[in-house]
Amino acid sequence: MKKIALYPGSFDPFTNGHLDILLQGLAIADEIVIAIGLHSSKAGMFTFDERKALITKVVPEALSKRISVISFKNLVVDTARDAGATILLRGLRDGTDLDYEMQMAGMNGAMASDVQTVFLPSSPETRPITATLVRQIASMKGDASSFVPDVVAEALKLKND
Ligand code: ADP
Repeated sequence: MKKIALYPGSFDPFTNGHLDILLQGLAIADEIVIAIGLHSSKAGMFTFDERKALITKVVPEALSKRISVISFKNLVVDTARDAGATILLRGLRDGTDLDYEMQMAGMNGAMASDVQTVFLPSSPETRPITATLVRQIASMKGDASSFVPDVVAEALKLKND
C-alpha cells in the first residue's frame, strides 16, 4: 500500500526550508500532499493559486508525480483522512517549533490515532528560514534570494514592486 503524507502549512511563500523538508519527506513517504491552509482572517501575500503555481515550478520534474498541492480550511486531521494520508509531516527548526508542534501532535493524535505525526529536523543551512521573515524582507524591498528558490525570489520582487 502506498504511504501518503500530508504536509500542511501556509507556504506563503514556499521557502528553501519547506523544500528541504519536502525532499526529506520523500524518503519516508511514497507521495506527499502539500496542503495550503487558507484562513479567511489571514489573507496572506500570495493567493492559493500563486502559491500552488510557485510550488509546482519548484518541484523537480522527476518528482512531480509524487507531489500534489491542495488547499484546506478545515481540521488538518480531517484533511489528512480525505487525502488518504496516514502521515502528518512537520518540520522542526528549534525548541519553539518543538513546543508548539508537540501540542498539535498530541491533540491531533487524540482526535485521529490513524494519522501519525512525523517530525523532520531542518538542515543546518535552512534552519533559520521562516516565511514570515521572508515576506517582511521582501516587503521592505530587501533581497530574500538566499532563502527561497529563484522563481519565488522573482515573484516576491514583482509582488512588492
Ligand atoms: P512558516 O512557519 O515558515 O511560516 P509554514 O506555516 O508554512 O511556515 O510551515 C509549514 C511547515 O514547514 C511547518 O511544519 C514548519 O515547521 C515547516 N518549516 C517552515 N520553515 C522551515 C524550515 N526552515 N526548516 C524546517 N521546517 C520548516
